[in-house]
Amino acid sequence: MAFSETTVVTAWKNAGGKCERCGKSLVWENRGRETGYGAWEAHHATSVQSSGGDYPSNCKILCWSCHKKTF
Ligand SMILES: [Zn+2]
Repeated sequence: MAFSETTVVTAWKNAGGKCERCGKSLVWENRGRETGYGAWEAHHATSVQSSGGDYPSNCKILCWSCHKKTF
């Protein structure tokens, strides 16, 4: 299950529009893109398979390069 838009927006605001791992500035419109300036993804801190839920504290804002390292 993907995050709801409300969860992602809240997590984005909490992160200040920056990657929560490396601090890089991100671009809202470039969510889910693998390339491009400020590309990022909403990452499940606890995976859905491990019953991670749809709430902001489980939603990590990560730039694409950091997100790839979490796989
Ligand atoms: Zn990063």
